[in-house]
Amino acid sequence: MSLRVYLESVGCKLNQCERDALARQFTEAGYDVVRCAEDADLCVVNTCAVTHVAARKSRQRVRALGRANPGARLVATGCYAGIGEEGLSADLVVPNDRKEALVSLVEARLDLWELDRGPAGPRADAGEGAISRTRPMVKIQDGCDNACTYCIVHVLRGKQRSQPRAEILAQVREWVRQGYHEVVLTGVHVGSYGRDSGDGLFDLVCAILADSPPERLRLSSIEPWDLTPEFYALWEDPRLCRHLHLPLQSGCDAVLSRMNRHYSAAEFARLVTQARDAIPGLAVTTDLIAGFPGETEEEHGASAAFVEGLAFARAHVFAYSERPGTPAADMPDPVDPPVRQRRARELREIARRSGEAFRRGFVGQTLAVLWEARGPDGRWSGLTDHYVRVYADSDEDLANALRLTRLTALEPGGLSGIVVRTSG
Ligand code: SF4
Repeated sequence: MSLRVYLESVGCKLNQCERDALARQFTEAGYDVVRCAEDADLCVVNTCAVTHVAARKSRQRVRALGRANPGARLVATGCYAGIGEEGLSADLVVPNDRKEALVSLVEARLDLWELDRGPAGPRADAGEGAISRTRPMVKIQDGCDNACTYCIVHVLRGKQRSQPRAEILAQVREWVRQGYHEVVLTGVHVGSYGRDSGDGLFDLVCAILADSPPERLRLSSIEPWDLTPEFYALWEDPRLCRHLHLPLQSGCDAVLSRMNRHYSAAEFARLVTQARDAIPGLAVTTDLIAGFPGETEEEHGASAAFVEGLAFARAHVFAYSERPGTPAADMPDPVDPPVRQRRARELREIARRSGEAFRRGFVGQTLAVLWEARGPDGRWSGLTDHYVRVYADSDEDLANALRLTRLTALEPGGLSGIVVRTSG
């Protein structure tokens, strides 16, 4: 009987992508990857340290898996494993720079064959720990050469390194061969792909679309300074999803400068206008930090007004949290935590309204939806290429089906629709 491993990740898409890569490595090494922690001999958590909330969740997940399956060995890896070893109740802690050797480290350090192994229980539905079932990711690079003052990720992940183009093409080809319709390119700083190897993101995307085209190709977050006007020509190919995630962080120049971001609010607005002009129907989503050190009420007000003007399709709003080891953690004039939370709520409300307005524009249209899974209410849930969530009733098994769907009404956080026929 093979050893059974359960994997889950906390945090960003890159962590999910790496969890999937670890699952492949364990499978190649002869392990069974299971969907339920209680069934496993070994549980692996790919941790996150981007905010104090993510760090806490990482610690909690390791503890929770230990409670759920006290007989299993526990491994923690990822960003938090690089700084928080003492807070992780794991049998083995593997920092990011040793993650690629995780399977052999597990075999060298943990006596897995000494475990008292019970029979596998019933399989649960795919949860956070399961491999992404409809939109697999391909890691194109790791690390970042920037130094945003709030960010611990570039410290933990190190310098930018690109994956070889041939490996990326082979991985995309493999996902397409396995029947996936959408592939997501991910990394810490996707826009810097190829700077160390003489390649570039534009050429990589062209090569993927020419080589083994998935029906949809999505780019994860791109830093605004990486967008050049030539870049938009990529969207002449309709397979590239009409979705750009451009992290703004703040709409106030003084705060952007303290964050060491390389643009002004006006430059960001120009980029968004150019992108929207070049790509009709484009969804622009963003990240925002509320209550950065020194942020005054006026600066927050300026940022909120700017965010309102840009009418984002969606925004992830974080209340600033100090990450020890970053320059921002030592900056003067920290904002009181309750004020950070209140400002975050205000920004979320602005984003909620603009997101709703964006989605309302699709009511009455018929678009391809990539269906994922049924929710607890029995309705199917899927995504348009704009990353708009759609819900529908259907007796059919729609998992991983790309179907034309008539979008009928606005719902909280999404749209409802009626599946009409197979996508052409
Ligand atoms: S661009 Fe800034 S926020 Fe993003 S990983 Fe690099 S340093 Fe961190």
